[in-house]
Amino acid sequence: MVDRLVNSEANARRIAMVEGCFGSSGQPLAVPGRVLVGEGVLTKMCRKKPKSRQFFLFNDILVYGNIVINKKRYNKQHIIPLEEVKLESLEDDSHFRNGWLIRTATKSFAVYAATATEKQEWMAHINKCIEDLLRKSGKKAVEVHAAVWVPDSEASVCMHCKRTQFSMLNRRHHCRKCGSVVCGPCSNKRYLLPSQSSKPLRVCLNCFDTLSKQKSGSGSTPDKLGLKERSGSADSSGEEDSSGEEDNGRPQDDPGQPKFYG
Ligand SMILES: [Zn+2]
Ligand SMILES: [Zn+2]
Repeated sequence: MVDRLVNSEANARRIAMVEGCFGSSGQPLAVPGRVLVGEGVLTKMCRKKPKSRQFFLFNDILVYGNIVINKKRYNKQHIIPLEEVKLESLEDDSHFRNGWLIRTATKSFAVYAATATEKQEWMAHINKCIEDLLRKSGKKAVEVHAAVWVPDSEASVCMHCKRTQFSMLNRRHHCRKCGSVVCGPCSNKRYLLPSQSSKPLRVCLNCFDTLSKQKSGSGSTPDKLGLKERSGSADSSGEEDSSGEEDNGRPQDDPGQPKFYG
């Protein structure tokens, strides 16, 4: 059981180790009651391509980062509160196996383990942590989750108009509602998606129509201005960890198997 690790010296040492590996690029992770439940390398589907990421499962948060030096140095720390997380198993296909979705209100993405056993272990441990957390807090699981973004490489033409060929000039954009890759004109509207942001977000024309029809005094207001494309803006690269770090995504020679302590 995870609970017996609370206040244990081994747990404190492991958490200090994780903090040390992130160094000043990370948040303090040692808080009362927190337990490191497991750790390991998973392949995370990013906007451009799949990349190796180091994951740490705590009893209340999921932390991941880029691997600078295997088992020694990580950066680009992301922290996901487990209360918001919902997992969804993915079927194996010819390219990707042993995967599942990690869905949260603000960000959803797919990860892949090396083997079916590792997938099953990760999912079981994460789900157990979520269950325990929700039971203790009495909160309900979050119902609305952000769309999983279709990777850029899967769309050479706009998924809405099916005409625009993507290029340096015709950049790809992602609908924040359905995750489709669409061209600028097919995503020139914004819509308020309160679960994701307090500001209206880019949506495709399909989703804009659907959302506008659904709306009946729910507080959501479509942005009818049809914002002009801001050239060079980074908002279509919503994934902070998607650019300028190509070297960090190499598969590790020997990532090792995940370790679970609980
Ligand atoms: Zn289009
Ligand atoms: Zn859409």
